[in-house]
Amino acid sequence: MSITHSNDKQMQETLLSLAPSAQSMPTSATLAINEAVAQRRATGRETLHLGFGEASFPLHPSLKNALSEAARSTGYAPVQGLPALRQAIAAYLTRERGLSCSQEQVIVAPGSKPLLYGLLQVLDGDVLLPVPSWVSYGPQARLAGRRVIDVQTEPTDHHRLTPAALTRAVEQARSDGARPRILIVNTPSNPTGSMFERADVEALAHWARANGIVLISDEIYAELAHGWREHVSPAHYYPEGCIITGGLSKAFAAGGWRLGYAILPATSAGTQVMNAVRGLASEIWSSASTPVQQAALVAFSADASIKRYVQNSTLLYRYVTNQLYETLTQLGVLCARPAGAFYLYPDFAPWRDALKKIGVETSLDLAHYLLDTWDIATLPASVFGEHPSALRLRLATSMLCLPDAYTTIAQSEATLWQLLAHAETLVADKESEQLSLPLLARVQTRWLEVIQALR
Ligand code: PMP
Ligand code: GLU
Repeated sequence: MSITHSNDKQMQETLLSLAPSAQSMPTSATLAINEAVAQRRATGRETLHLGFGEASFPLHPSLKNALSEAARSTGYAPVQGLPALRQAIAAYLTRERGLSCSQEQVIVAPGSKPLLYGLLQVLDGDVLLPVPSWVSYGPQARLAGRRVIDVQTEPTDHHRLTPAALTRAVEQARSDGARPRILIVNTPSNPTGSMFERADVEALAHWARANGIVLISDEIYAELAHGWREHVSPAHYYPEGCIITGGLSKAFAAGGWRLGYAILPATSAGTQVMNAVRGLASEIWSSASTPVQQAALVAFSADASIKRYVQNSTLLYRYVTNQLYETLTQLGVLCARPAGAFYLYPDFAPWRDALKKIGVETSLDLAHYLLDTWDIATLPASVFGEHPSALRLRLATSMLCLPDAYTTIAQSEATLWQLLAHAETLVADKESEQLSLPLLARVQTRWLEVIQALR
């Protein structure tokens, strides 16, 4: 049989023309910068990588053993997840966050990201998003055909989300013909590292109930609260209207395992949403990987060693994030004090004039300048929903404990285990010579040089 190829370029393009919703679909900024840094490094270009929020500690050995034991489980798992895992997640949330939760309310998927998308696809209405907020919420909402309604927050008050600001945004949206019904919140926050106070969470929950708004509470960083602000789930105050998401990627440092969960309200409406998300899952990803689900069971079990691993990782993230925060604020950079996770969100507005002279007028220009001139990888505020002219950046500090970009995996793991084993004493004693973190030191020096060059 002979195959005839069309050589007409225009015909070929029409053949593969994109649907309108896919005509502007770049790779998500977080994953794109990570791949760009890997490419730069492969060509020998040194890069200080503050662009990607990836938990960097080695896997806990109990999880590693559980996964290798589960390798022979090659069958599909139930769409909603293995019952034993759903039970373990429900018990975990009850134990660790004081939430009453049963396995019927839990669905497991290959990451919380597809579950967030699934929820935006099946829930009715348009989506309120704090500005700034994580890169994928906006694109996911638009992909699901929803309008995105921005609610601006300010670094000067730890990016609080107040009922007054929410009411203003909802009224404006309604007068523009939108139907706001969903609000996504994320505390600790990616990109700011800020956390909501209990009183604000309570006010937010009451506001959502009074206004018929569903809260999606992305709690993927809950375990990584630094300690000066407690993590409070809005589900405590608004159980019937709050959906929680989380997973293995941050506290358990297993992002590449792709395992996330969502908890739906224990109401008949919650059951309907569960049925719809399960239906969507069954048509798209079938189930999360069976061996990974079996190993995840160990992560969510009551295990003192795993709990200590998570606590010590948090101490170290807190340490590197605070160190960089202090360096930046001493240099005059504006930045909200980090309360959780591994992010800083500095504002370079004081250098606007100096930056303008070298052609830097937007956060995107600033991120390019830092990468091209100073080999610092960051993400511009614009990918988190901010106005292009806001001279803010997200800095991810999660890789600053790593010994060096070029050590072997085995050497790197050995150093990280040493750090984890001594986290409490090392972090308590700031003067400790033992806490040698070469990447952190290089990053601090580089920022000093950047700011000096701008003066
Ligand atoms: N939410 C936030 C705020 C995140 O930073 C991430 C990190 N990827 C996710 C959700 C998704 O995580 P995952 O799909 O790995 O569970
Ligand atoms: N959550 C990480 C970040 O914001 C990266 C992973 C992802 O975006 O899926 O950098």
